[in-house]
Amino acid sequence: MSDPTSRSNPGHAPSWYAASANDKRARVALTGNITADVCIIGAGFTGISAALQLAENGFSVVVLEGERIGFGASGRNGGQIVNGYSRDLDTIARRYGPAKAKALGAISLEGAAIIRERVAKYAIDCDLVDGGFFAAFTDKQIRDLGEVRATWQKHGHTGLEMVSKSEVGRYVKTDRYAGGMIDRLGGHIHPLNMVLGEARAVESLGGRIFENSRVTALEMGSAPVVRTEKGSVTAKYVLVCGNAYLGTLLPAIGDRMMPVSSQVMATEPLDANLIAELLPANYCVEDANYILDYYRRTADNRLLYGGGIGYGGQDPANLTGVIRPNMLKTFPQLENTKIEFAWSGNFALTLTRVPHIGRLADNVYFSHGDSGHGVTTTHLLGKILGEAVAGHAGRFDVWASLPNLPFPGGKVFRVPLTMLGAWWYGLRDRLGV
Ligand SMILES: Cc1cc2nc3c(=O)[nH]c(=O)nc-3n(C[C@H](O)[C@H](O)[C@H](O)COP(=O)(O)OP(=O)(O)OC[C@H]3O[C@@H](n4cnc5c(N)ncnc54)[C@H](O)[C@@H]3O)c2cc1C
Repeated sequence: MSDPTSRSNPGHAPSWYAASANDKRARVALTGNITADVCIIGAGFTGISAALQLAENGFSVVVLEGERIGFGASGRNGGQIVNGYSRDLDTIARRYGPAKAKALGAISLEGAAIIRERVAKYAIDCDLVDGGFFAAFTDKQIRDLGEVRATWQKHGHTGLEMVSKSEVGRYVKTDRYAGGMIDRLGGHIHPLNMVLGEARAVESLGGRIFENSRVTALEMGSAPVVRTEKGSVTAKYVLVCGNAYLGTLLPAIGDRMMPVSSQVMATEPLDANLIAELLPANYCVEDANYILDYYRRTADNRLLYGGGIGYGGQDPANLTGVIRPNMLKTFPQLENTKIEFAWSGNFALTLTRVPHIGRLADNVYFSHGDSGHGVTTTHLLGKILGEAVAGHAGRFDVWASLPNLPFPGGKVFRVPLTMLGAWWYGLRDRLGV
């Protein structure tokens, strides 16, 4: 981690991650016309995970990033390694049948395993720490977490343990929670340093990554052509990994996801004794509310606290105004603590809260919509995209078979309708029902 007081890292959101990135060097923009086996649009976790999988297997890969590597959600998130998907496996079983739930359950721990494997293999310096705590406010949330644990155990996850109210203090010093559950296979990372480390691994294997190279057109065909303002890539395959930042490039898939913003802030570095008192086990924490708070320690002893939500990707005018009151409810002892960084980022929400993955043509694949829990899933799905290109599409096809529907209300009403749904679930949380 570099010195966060040298904050300049142009092209990134003004985050603590950008300030403390351990590789601030920019890559050149694409100029001229080049060829590759695979052209990937977007250098977030999904695109870079796919690139690494492909480069490791001998494919020539070009990644085109409109801004900087990790510019999107991947370089701004809470850094929490959360296992599983944004919809739990019971819901997946009810909706899509037990066979699909079994197939997805069998690989639901793989995303976190990929992260740990790559950190070790490529010596990625990203402050990896093991352990996550899910905090419950109410007895109902404790029962729900117990059900999640029972389902997970059926799928082979043995790292979950329930935590009683009297044990909460082992993980977080606050009076707010009625109990919770720990996940020993969870954890946290500096996400921008993770994706930068993976990008370096891609390059070490011969892959090429261009920054400031926004894709403006994709021409389908037997050798698709991907165009930027100053160049083009002709490839055998194209992978679309632009997620919530894809914009209007491909309306056929853009209409099935909605950008949603979440806000994060980082305090000044805290006294080592104080931060160890607040989060003694150094686990990351997320609460069980529908619109949830998530927080953790950083390697330089800051509290990094996230929450809030903006459907349609709208940012509130005052970022800390949303998050700081929540932080103080959890840790009133931080009343006089300075907030040094505040930023926001967009993730892609799907109507089903299940990632949307599929083919736009025989040689053009896409994946997006991890719906807020994407650090692990993007690593898994990036790998699966790479496998599909290599001709092993079994796991890709399971995901691609899950139906994904457009948001009701079209472009105009989808935001207010989703807000209404979120308000309803938020109200249930507040009432404890
Ligand atoms: C504030 C916040 C906090 C979060 N916290 C967590 C967390 O703690 N744990 C967790 O599991 N998940 C979390 N998430 C979700 C997680 O970060 C995302 O699911 C994940 O990073 C998505 O990765 P991605 O590669 O699919 O998309 P992104 O990281 O958004 O990458 C897409 C990239 O594509 C580029 N792009 C788009 N269009 C084009 C184009 N036309 N040409 C070229 N490039 C293009 C963008 O510039 C961007 O860099 C959080 C998300 C946010 C926003």
